[in-house]
Amino acid sequence: MNRERKIIRGIGTSSGVAIGRAYVLERGKIPVPKRNIKPEAHDREINRLRTAIKDAQEELKSIKDRLDEEIRKHAFIIDTHLLILQDDFLINSVIDVIRNENVNAEWALDMVVSRILTTLEKVEDPYLRERAQDIEYVYKRLMRIMVKKVKLDIDSLHLSAKTIIVAHDLSPADTIHLNLKKISGFVTDIGGRTSHTSIVARALEIPAVVGTQVASSTVKNFERIIIDGDEGIAIVNPSEEDVKYYVRKQKLLKEKKNEHLRIAKLKPETKDGFKVKIGANIELIPEMEIVEKYGGEGIGLYRTEYLYLSRKAIPTEEDHFQVYKKLAERKSFSYVTIRTLDIGGDKFVSNLDLAKELNPAMGLRAIRLCIKETQLFKSQLKGILRASAYGPLKILIPMISGIDEVIKTKEIIRECMAELEERKISYNKDIEVGVMIEVPSSCMISEILAKEVDFFSIGTNDLIQYTLAIDRVNEYVSYLYEPLHPGVLRLIKNTIDAAHKEGIEVALCGEMSSEPLYIPVLLGLGIDELSMNPYSIPQAKSIIRKLDQDYCRDLANHILSMKSGREAERFLKGELKEVLKDDWILMDNRYDLLKGRI
Ligand code: PEP
Ligand code: MG
Repeated sequence: MNRERKIIRGIGTSSGVAIGRAYVLERGKIPVPKRNIKPEAHDREINRLRTAIKDAQEELKSIKDRLDEEIRKHAFIIDTHLLILQDDFLINSVIDVIRNENVNAEWALDMVVSRILTTLEKVEDPYLRERAQDIEYVYKRLMRIMVKKVKLDIDSLHLSAKTIIVAHDLSPADTIHLNLKKISGFVTDIGGRTSHTSIVARALEIPAVVGTQVASSTVKNFERIIIDGDEGIAIVNPSEEDVKYYVRKQKLLKEKKNEHLRIAKLKPETKDGFKVKIGANIELIPEMEIVEKYGGEGIGLYRTEYLYLSRKAIPTEEDHFQVYKKLAERKSFSYVTIRTLDIGGDKFVSNLDLAKELNPAMGLRAIRLCIKETQLFKSQLKGILRASAYGPLKILIPMISGIDEVIKTKEIIRECMAELEERKISYNKDIEVGVMIEVPSSCMISEILAKEVDFFSIGTNDLIQYTLAIDRVNEYVSYLYEPLHPGVLRLIKNTIDAAHKEGIEVALCGEMSSEPLYIPVLLGLGIDELSMNPYSIPQAKSIIRKLDQDYCRDLANHILSMKSGREAERFLKGELKEVLKDDWILMDNRYDLLKGRI
């Protein structure tokens, strides 16, 4: 039977290619047996319930003990589940149902939990409503134990070494249950770079594609699936051509890995001696090691949203300080750019009570929220300032759309500095303050902004979204996502030229910075730093070392004269094949594949 080939798009959050069979982690489909029992059997059923609770507690405790340091921060989730398992109201209600209705423990538990969930659904308070998820989680764990379905579906499988886990989402507890040695990839419906699946996958170097929205409802068990953690795509029931391409890519990636580790040590310098800085985009402290291994000279973007995501309460000044100090003290980094909170848009955290907005990407996001919630902002800024006494930290402000936001932010920073002085705490008085250029208006006024700040960092992920009016997480318009669109390229050029006129440097930290096809163009436009996911650094270095500056300048000028992104892309593909040689092999048909043309 010929199964339909489908391409599922998401966010590639852990590099690499996996080819295998899908295993779909299904949730909420545990058949609940109903048995009418005699009163003499009440105690037996109550005991079964109590034993299941004890087993579930033990399971959760052992999961908690086994958590790695980073993931341990999520232990509060497990604590919440443990508390539910001790809840007298819940347990007594189930016992009452067993006794009063003469039913087995599973059925009684199902009745009680359904009632609680129905009540919670009607509650206005979002915090209470969210607790429903925790109750559901505990319910499923108990039910699995009682119906003798092992802890998690996956445990019962004799997985071959090539299983790709497809799930709606994976909690830290789920991930810990999986036998990670037998898993070659992850695909999830929800999540982003900082979701648990992504973090675990990156730490273990297992490819992952998250945020697909549809994977768990589209993919069927044991279907053949390929995932590409760099491109953020999963191909279900791939064609022979897909398989051939990805087997080749996988082989090349493997071969390239050693070569990459060698290249990682080399300088990112063109043939004629022009040096570009290469930084890394990270969000976790353990990733520092990966940056060093893959040859990043600094951190071009430290996304701080994870700090807010990984704990129950909003992080304090001290929490911020402790994390940033670790970054500052790392001797191998010549600079570390800490981006202040960029929450809102496609990034959410549950410990901030944000109003629901119809259009969050254009709402109270990032600096807008920080200026409104000054105390929240100040605790982060003070954390950064205090850590700046220990190493080369810079402050980066996201989502700037006009000069007033810059002036206001600088005023708040000065207030933080004054407060630290009063507390006699040292900090770097000359700490550089830069802005993300990711809203078209900021590109258009870059010559004004350049007079006020120490550096720019172009965030093309958002810049492309706002310039081309395409929601960056909306798959229906992803075909319009064109970094080489003349509208985007002109904004980038305008920004770089304005910055250089004022003598400040420009970094580019969107996904565009690691695209082999775009690197020569960005160099030609005069970019000073490229900041990217650490695994892409060696390839970027390898490409840079094959280029020379005059060639890149001519190339950029030529591209700027083109009428459309597609035309520019076509031209570059033809042009760069020869120049990039072995770096090209990995890419020869991926662009077509991405656009769904294969
Ligand atoms: C960007 O917008 O390009 C960027 C680097 O930031 P983020 O993806 O975190 O919005
Ligand atoms: Mg952004």
